[in-house]
Amino acid sequence: MADCLFCKIVAKEIPAKLVHEDADVVAFEDINPQAPTHVLVVPRRHVSTLNDLGPQDEALLGKLHRAAAAVATARGIAASGWRAVMNVNRDAGQSVFHIHLHVLGGKPMGWPPFPG
Ligand code: AMP
Ligand code: ZN
Repeated sequence: MADCLFCKIVAKEIPAKLVHEDADVVAFEDINPQAPTHVLVVPRRHVSTLNDLGPQDEALLGKLHRAAAAVATARGIAASGWRAVMNVNRDAGQSVFHIHLHVLGGKPMGWPPFPG
């Protein structure tokens, strides 16, 4: 999709620190990491938000999660713990409208994720 930051990273038009890529998904380091491991896993195919998934995307969501688990294993945080987060729209703080799974870990996290 034109003017989509993550489509441009997938197309290698914008540089990123890639940590995994295969036929369907690409994973790269978040530019503003919030944890010792903060990797984003994205589909090559543009989907704006989780609200926009269709039946054709069901397998893709599984692939995103399996790639996230592979990244967690490679980083040595599979057993200690990690979080998979996908923000959707304004209240959740989505800022890039190409779905991406945040893989966060490497230190203990809080819950629930609400300020104040
Ligand atoms: P979200 O707020 O859930 O939409 O997450 C977007 C994420 O993309 C944020 O964690 C940003 O730090 C990250 N981000 C923005 N631009 C880039 C970039 N050029 N390369 C890597 N990560 C980025
Ligand atoms: Zn895109």
